[in-house]
Amino acid sequence: METDEMLREVFKAAGKEHGFDRVEAEFTAFKEFKVRWQRSYKWAEFKVSDYMADAPEEVVKGLANSLFARIAGTDDAGYPKSLTDWITDPEFAELKQPLYLKRSRNLSRSPEGEKKSLAESLGRLMDMGLAEEDPLVHLSWTKESNIRKIGHCSVLMKVVSISSALDSDMIPDFVLDHCLHHELCHIMAGFDPSAGRHGESFAKLEERFPRKAEAEEWLRKLCMYL
Ligand SMILES: [Zn+2]
Repeated sequence: METDEMLREVFKAAGKEHGFDRVEAEFTAFKEFKVRWQRSYKWAEFKVSDYMADAPEEVVKGLANSLFARIAGTDDAGYPKSLTDWITDPEFAELKQPLYLKRSRNLSRSPEGEKKSLAESLGRLMDMGLAEEDPLVHLSWTKESNIRKIGHCSVLMKVVSISSALDSDMIPDFVLDHCLHHELCHIMAGFDPSAGRHGESFAKLEERFPRKAEAEEWLRKLCMYL
């Protein structure tokens, strides 16, 4: 394929500049957006998320250069701006979300559970002024009920999933609302790997939920964690 060819050429050229004489690169169907690499002295091999298969050459170049700089230890600034701009553009989530959902085997792909509705939970959060309507955000229950980790969010793909362990009459609505709010705060805080998962800007948003402490106490008693 043409884009695979482009990826290889771009990575080879960037490698040459950093003193690598054998470089391999290919697109790989990871579920999450990521890049993996292996290297030895003058050899490096990259597996790049195939969500980038239609990325412009400039974006791929930016990625290649930043990775070689990281490997060489000359720079560790994370992803370059050209790449973060491209993957955080709403069009990226819009185009890639269907494939991401297909790869997320444990999702019901519906906001409606047996007992509870994530759509209704979102409605309550919107009434409280804690969330906004965003047609790109996909809400789903999990199929298998995970107890240890009850919420998950892909900021890039705009997918929020809540464990079906919470799809129960035993769980008060405000506890579910807190969990959904927590995951939506990840999307509101935006993509920023340098800030850490629950960084300062995230915490500020999460604090806005009025019964946060009470909800956390509930979850602690049930040994459930976000
Ligand atoms: Zn979280």
